[in-house]
Amino acid sequence: MDLVSNNISRIAPSITLSITSQAKKMIDEGQDICNFGAGEPDLDTPEFVKEAAIKALQEGATKYTAAAGILPLRKAIQEKLLLENNLEYETSQISVNCGAKHSCYNAILACCDPGDEVIIPAPYWTSYPEMVRMVGAEPYIVETKRENGWKLTAEEFEEAISGRTRMLILNSPNNPTGAVYTREELEKIAEVALSEDVIILSDEIYEKLIYNSREHVSIASLGPEVRDLTITINGFSKVYAMTGWRVGYTAAPREIADAIDTIQSHTTSNITTFAQYGALAALQGDQTIVRDMVDEYDMRRQYMLSRLQKIHNVEVVEPEGAFYFLVDTTPIGLNSMNLSEKLLSRHQIAVVPGVAFGNDRSIRFSYATGLDVIKKGLDRFEEFCRSY
Ligand SMILES: *Cc1c(COP(=O)(O)O)cnc(C)c1O
Repeated sequence: MDLVSNNISRIAPSITLSITSQAKKMIDEGQDICNFGAGEPDLDTPEFVKEAAIKALQEGATKYTAAAGILPLRKAIQEKLLLENNLEYETSQISVNCGAKHSCYNAILACCDPGDEVIIPAPYWTSYPEMVRMVGAEPYIVETKRENGWKLTAEEFEEAISGRTRMLILNSPNNPTGAVYTREELEKIAEVALSEDVIILSDEIYEKLIYNSREHVSIASLGPEVRDLTITINGFSKVYAMTGWRVGYTAAPREIADAIDTIQSHTTSNITTFAQYGALAALQGDQTIVRDMVDEYDMRRQYMLSRLQKIHNVEVVEPEGAFYFLVDTTPIGLNSMNLSEKLLSRHQIAVVPGVAFGNDRSIRFSYATGLDVIKKGLDRFEEFCRSY
C-alpha cells in the first residue's frame, strides 16, 4: 500500500540539500570552507525590529489575529505598495503569510486546478515547480537564454502558451540569475498575458536589492487590467534580513485574496502574532538600513563581477539584483552536481548546483557572505578553472 499521496510522491526532495548539508558538516568540523551557498542575508535583523516584536510579546500580542494578519500591518503594506510600487489595493486584498514561500504556494493553490499548466522560466527558484506539482498542476518550463540576460521574452512566453495554461511565474529581480526585467519587457509580457488570460504570479522578494540605479517595476502597476490578473508577492526575509521570522505577503484581485484568506483560515491561521508587529516596525522604521545593506551587497557584487569576468572557462551575466551570480560552466563539461561536489571536496568551495534551478550547466554563487570569504573562495575557484 502507498502511504504517500500521488501528488506528493511526484515531488523531488531538494537536490541541493545533500550538498548543503555536506558543506555544513565540513564547516562544523572546522574545515576552512568558503561558503557561497547561502540563500539568506548574512547580516542580522535590525535592532528596532527585534525590539518591536519583544515589546509586542511583553504587551500580550500572544493570541490569534485575523487569518489575513493584523490590520495595522496590512495598512502599512497597502501604503508601501501605493507609495513605492504605484499599486492601489484595498486592505482586504492583502494577506500576510508565513514567508513569501507560503505566499507563492497559497497563490498557486488558490488559482490552479489539476491539469492546469504553469509557465516557469528557467533558471527558476527551486520551489516553484514542486509547488505547482503539489496542487496537481503541471509546470511548463521555458529555458531562457544567457544572451537575453536569462530573461523570458514575450515571444517565448507566447509560444509556451497552450489551452491549459493558467499562470506565469515571474521573479524579478531573479534568484538565481540576478536578472531584472525592464518596464518595456514587462509591458510586452503583460500584453501577452492579457490577450491569453494568463494569471501572473509576480515574486518581488528581491525588489530592494537592485543595483546600477535600475528601477524595480511591479508588473501589476502597468495598468488596471494587468493588476486584475496579477498576484504581487513580497516579504521581509531578504530586505530586512528576517528569514527566520516567516513574514511574507500577497496582494491580489479580490476573488484570489478571498480564496487565500480561506485557505489560510483552514490551514495556518494567522502568522505568529508578535512577528507581525516586528514586520510593522520594519516598514515604519528608518529605511537607511536598507540602503546600507544594498551598498554592502553592491560592493561585493562589483568585486565578484570583476573577478569572475577574468576567470577562464566560465561566463557570467552581470546580475542587477538579488545577491547571486549564476556562473555558466558549460566549457568545464561536468554536470552541475558533479562540479559542485568536486569544488566542495577538493577545493573547499561550497556552491549550489544549477540543476536545482533547472540549468545543469551552471553553479550559483551567493554573495550574502563576507568579502574575505569571497576573495579567498574566488582565488580557489580561479585556480580550479585554470586547471581545466
Ligand atoms: C528567499 C525567496 C523566497 C522566500 O522567502 P521567504 O523567506 O519565504 O519570505 C521567495 N522567492 C524567492 C525567489 C526567494 O529567493
